[in-house]
Amino acid sequence: MDRIWIAGPCAAESREQVLTTAEQLVTCARNANIPLHYYRAGVWKVRSTPNSFAGAGEVALDWLQEVQHLYHIPACVEVMNAEQVELCAKHDIRIVWVGARTAVNPIDVQQIADAVQHSNFTVMVKNPMIPDLKLWMGNIERFRQADIQQVIAIHRGFPDANENVYRNTPLWHIPIDLKVQMPELPILCDPSHLCGQAHLIPEIAQLAMNYGFNGLMTECHCQPAQALSDTEQQLSPEAWASMISQLDLRTGGSDLELLKQRTVLENIDHQISELLYQRMKTVDEIADIKRKNHIAVVQPQQWHHVVQRYMKHSEDTSYQTFIEQFLELLHQSSINRQK
Ligand code: PEP
Ligand code: MN
Repeated sequence: MDRIWIAGPCAAESREQVLTTAEQLVTCARNANIPLHYYRAGVWKVRSTPNSFAGAGEVALDWLQEVQHLYHIPACVEVMNAEQVELCAKHDIRIVWVGARTAVNPIDVQQIADAVQHSNFTVMVKNPMIPDLKLWMGNIERFRQADIQQVIAIHRGFPDANENVYRNTPLWHIPIDLKVQMPELPILCDPSHLCGQAHLIPEIAQLAMNYGFNGLMTECHCQPAQALSDTEQQLSPEAWASMISQLDLRTGGSDLELLKQRTVLENIDHQISELLYQRMKTVDEIADIKRKNHIAVVQPQQWHHVVQRYMKHSEDTSYQTFIEQFLELLHQSSINRQK
């Protein structure tokens, strides 16, 4: 399966911005000898806060139509309801995607599926904001049942209450499980919304390739720093072309089941390190309280209680020894920190 490269701004802001970004992407792609398959741009933007730029609306579909005519590159747009599907069709835009927010609501997704049914639309389905593979697969199934021939999944990561390096946590095991369960389905990665910061994008893009993803949807802007939405994560067209041309596309031919279990393990390790970090911060808070209230640092009975509680988890003696040693290490490091 050939890779699919999609690029374009988070949002269509003005005719000039849409056309300039497209022109630069086309030029950079040509110079780097890479294809640009689809041009993306959000026309209606779902924003978290009420006064943020909400997209240019229907007029932006004219600009995207111009891009299609000028460069013969299909444009793709996020749709949230049937009316927006109709407007896309009216402007000859035949590729749409369901965004991560819409994807949490099966009623909205079904409405979009009904609007595109038996048509030649290509539909891309982003993972929902919640890490629920069944829901993601259910959304994909809705478009298959609506007789859509070309359905593509897009992994854009999952929000996490903790502060992380990435804007959205990858949870790679979820899209890899999707690959296991729907092997025929192309899956792209959207490293832009996953990373949230431009400098993190190339590494995640390469990881997605290593994991056998079928392409990338990347946000690019002719003037990244001036972007009206998702400013931090816009790549310049040059940076995009340079990233794509430097990707190592040799497929590892990894066993999917093994890859899935490995990424499950990676996720567990990530959670452990996150929890250990949270724990360290909490230890510091406790140290403060103890200092203020003149309470002794070590309270042996309490610790004994904790150890007993975790011992119950398993009958396996080697595991028990490991937990004992691990908890002892944790305990000692907390004491040292508090002192
Ligand atoms: C987008 O691609 O413009 C977008 C809003 O992404 P997501 O739905 O993944 O947040
Ligand atoms: Mn965006």
